Amino acid sequence: MKEITIKDKKFAVSIPESYIQGEVKKLAERISQDLEGKNPLFLGVLNGSFMFAADLFRDISIPAQISFVKLASYEGTLSTGVIKEVIGLSENVTGRCIVIVEDIIDSGLTMQRLLENLGTRNPAEIHICTLLLKPENLKADLDVEYVALQIPNDFIVGYGLDYDGWGRNSRDIYTVVDD
Ligand code: 5GP
Ligand code: MG
Repeated sequence: MKEITIKDKKFAVSIPESYIQGEVKKLAERISQDLEGKNPLFLGVLNGSFMFAADLFRDISIPAQISFVKLASYEGTLSTGVIKEVIGLSENVTGRCIVIVEDIIDSGLTMQRLLENLGTRNPAEIHICTLLLKPENLKADLDVEYVALQIPNDFIVGYGLDYDGWGRNSRDIYTVVDD
């Protein structure tokens, strides 16, 4: 089993690149079918979603736009519950079909905050798309329409997701190993 160490923690591969790529492609095809004719605006949530958003968006086969926002709420391996403001949304979302692109939905509180914020800007519709969902931990009442992968409640890194800023460049997803 391939293992890496980041700072004080050991991680082992849990989702290989080839499997991620297959699921991302399927999701892009589904979204393209569902949102045909709606000229959606994808909104990637930085930093974690940059790799997923790039791969997903390349496989969107309908006319679409993409932009990125920032909204940090996490430090180390435990959610702090501290949710910051939405930064960097310069597009006019009024009347648009929005697809929020997240790396991971854990408690769902970050997504809830983002939905509230976007809701005040009068979009026509908002769809939630996430690479990863931890269903066991979900506290917010969300309709998570587009999920590439469901995972257990363990801390993961890779494919854009970090541990204190490190590990984003792994092509595979790694899960922390308890010691
Ligand atoms: P939520 O608000 O849904 O609890 O947390 C969402 C944010 O927490 C994600 O955007 C991500 O930044 C972070 N997060 C939650 N679980 C993990 C995890 O297993 N690994 C990493 N790297 N980040 C996580
Ligand atoms: Mg995120």
